[in-house]
Amino acid sequence: MKHITIKNTNQQIPVGKIVCVGRNYSEHAKELGNEVPEKPLVFLKPASALIFSGDKIRYPSFSNEMHHEVELVLLVGKKIKDANLKEAEDAIEAYGVGLDMTLRDIQTKLKEKGHPWTIAKGFDTSAVVSDFISKKEYTLTLNERIILSVNGVKRQDDLLNKMIFSPAEIVEYISSLMTLEEGDLIYTGTPAGVGKVIPEDKIHAEIEGIVFLDCSVE
Ligand code: MG
Repeated sequence: MKHITIKNTNQQIPVGKIVCVGRNYSEHAKELGNEVPEKPLVFLKPASALIFSGDKIRYPSFSNEMHHEVELVLLVGKKIKDANLKEAEDAIEAYGVGLDMTLRDIQTKLKEKGHPWTIAKGFDTSAVVSDFISKKEYTLTLNERIILSVNGVKRQDDLLNKMIFSPAEIVEYISSLMTLEEGDLIYTGTPAGVGKVIPEDKIHAEIEGIVFLDCSVE
């Protein structure tokens, strides 16, 4: 079982399921030619896809177009179902930054056929996370910047307050669909600027000044 590290503590939280939200920044929805959704678009990644800062992202043999998507990631701290907004906010334990690595060539074909995105989103190493910062230590205002650079060149840079659905709204909605448990991770969607990575690329991602990760592509 994989564990999340909480910065400045000895806490190691076993990871449960990984729930992801798509199209949560309107500029990103537009760049891929998608409509802005009325409800968060939800999909899952298996826990086996998870790696950490310093690990390598591996290109699967069945794709030639892997994209980076930098996202704020929430760590769920308690079991909830059908939460209201306050309960949803209270269930968020800590914040990290993550990469929702995506096989865009595969995803495009799956979307055309109306098939699930699992193959494009669930491959090994497709979910990268940083260490997390506890809400007890840092209160997120959503005025923070979320940034990703490849080989030192900035590709994604936006404010968290550009999210269509807030972290608490996302948790509230997901909890209406399925039980959330301690150790679950929630990826909250990526801003505009997604793009291809190739082997040897070095990726740096951060919620500016708060949490960060570094990975290379293999
Ligand atoms: Mg994403």
